Amino acid sequence: MIRQLLLALSENERVHAFVLRQRMARRAARRFVAGETLDEALGVVDRLAAEGYLLSLNLLGEKTTSPHEARAATDAYAEAATRLRGRPVDCYISVKLTQLGLDLDTDLAADNLRRVLEAARTDGRFVRVDMEHSPYVDRTLEIVTRLKAEGSDALGAVIQAYLYRSGDDVDRLLKLGIPIRLCKGAYAEPSSVAYPRKQDVDANFIRLQQRLLRDPACHAIATHDERLIQAAVSMVERENIPRDRYEFQMIYGIRRDLQARLLRGGHRVRIYVPYGTHWYPYLMRRMAERPANLAFVLRNLLRG
Ligand SMILES: Cc1cc2nc3c(=O)[nH]c(=O)nc-3n(C[C@H](O)[C@H](O)[C@H](O)COP(=O)(O)OP(=O)(O)OC[C@H]3O[C@@H](n4cnc5c(N)ncnc54)[C@H](O)[C@@H]3O)c2cc1C
Repeated sequence: MIRQLLLALSENERVHAFVLRQRMARRAARRFVAGETLDEALGVVDRLAAEGYLLSLNLLGEKTTSPHEARAATDAYAEAATRLRGRPVDCYISVKLTQLGLDLDTDLAADNLRRVLEAARTDGRFVRVDMEHSPYVDRTLEIVTRLKAEGSDALGAVIQAYLYRSGDDVDRLLKLGIPIRLCKGAYAEPSSVAYPRKQDVDANFIRLQQRLLRDPACHAIATHDERLIQAAVSMVERENIPRDRYEFQMIYGIRRDLQARLLRGGHRVRIYVPYGTHWYPYLMRRMAERPANLAFVLRNLLRG
C-alpha cells in the first residue's frame, strides 16, 4: 500500500517540483545520492575505490521530453567518461534510455547511447543500460542488441526478476554474449506482466541467478537481500566458481554493512553511485523499497 503510494508520488510532477525546492529534502537525499555535481560524485568514487569497491556512475534523470535535454544528458555522460580517464578506479557508467530520449524517438536514444559508448571506449570503460518500466523493456533490449551487433562489446543490460518474461530475455542475452545485471525490479507493475508476490519474485531471482552464475561470462547480482546473496555465495563455494566470474552490486548508501562484509569475504562488490539534480524519482523509489527510509527523510526535514 505505502509502496504503491510512494511509487505513484515518484511520478507526480507537482510534488516533484515542490520537493526540489526544499533545502532539507535535498539534504536528506544525500544519504542515497553522491552529490548534485560530477565533482562531488567523483570524490565519492575515489573514496570508495580506495576502500576496494568497484563503482558504477549514474547521472540521475529519466523521461526527458526534448531532444535538447537528451543531448545535454548525453554530453554530461561524455564529460563523466572524460573525467574518469586516467583515474585508477574500476568505474563504469550506467544510463537510462529515457534519459537519452527513448520517449521521443528510438533512433535518437540509440544514437545518444552510441556517443556515450564512444566516450567510454577511449578508456576501455563499460556502459550498462539500466532497465525502466515494463513498456520500455522491448525497446531497451532492442537497442542494446542492435549496438552489440554493431560491435559494441563493452555494453550490458539489466534483467528484472519480477517480470514473467525475464527467463526468456536472459536466454536471448546470454546467447548474444551480453553481460547482465540481475535485480528484482523497482517500478509499480501490473500483475499481467510481473509477479505481485515477493516470494515469487525472490524464487525467480534465485532461478535466474543460478543461470548467470553458471554462465562463463561475468554477470552482476544486484540486491541487498541477504538471503539471495547467501544463496549466491553458497553456490559459488559449492561449484568453485571463480571470483572474477561474478560481482555483487549494491546501491550507494544502502546496507553499507553488507557491502563491507562481502568485500572482506573476498567478493567483488560494485557500488551504484547516482549524482545530479534530478534525484526526486530515484529517492522515492528507494523509499518505496523500504518505507522506514521515509522516517529517516522526515526526521531530517523536521530537524532542519
Ligand atoms: C546496483 C543496482 C542496480 C539496480 N538497477 C536497477 C534497474 O536498472 N532497474 C530496476 O528496475 N531496478 C534496479 N535496481 C533496484 C532493484 O530492482 C530493487 O528495487 C532494489 O534493489 C531493492 O530490492 P532488493 O533486491 O535490495 O530486495 P528487497 O527485498 O527490496 O530488500 C532486501 C533488504 O535490503 C535492504 N534494502 C532494500 N532496499 C532498501 C532501501 N531502499 N533502503 C534501505 N534498505 C534497503 C533492506 O534491508 C531489505 O530488507 C537496482 C538495484 C541495485 C542494487
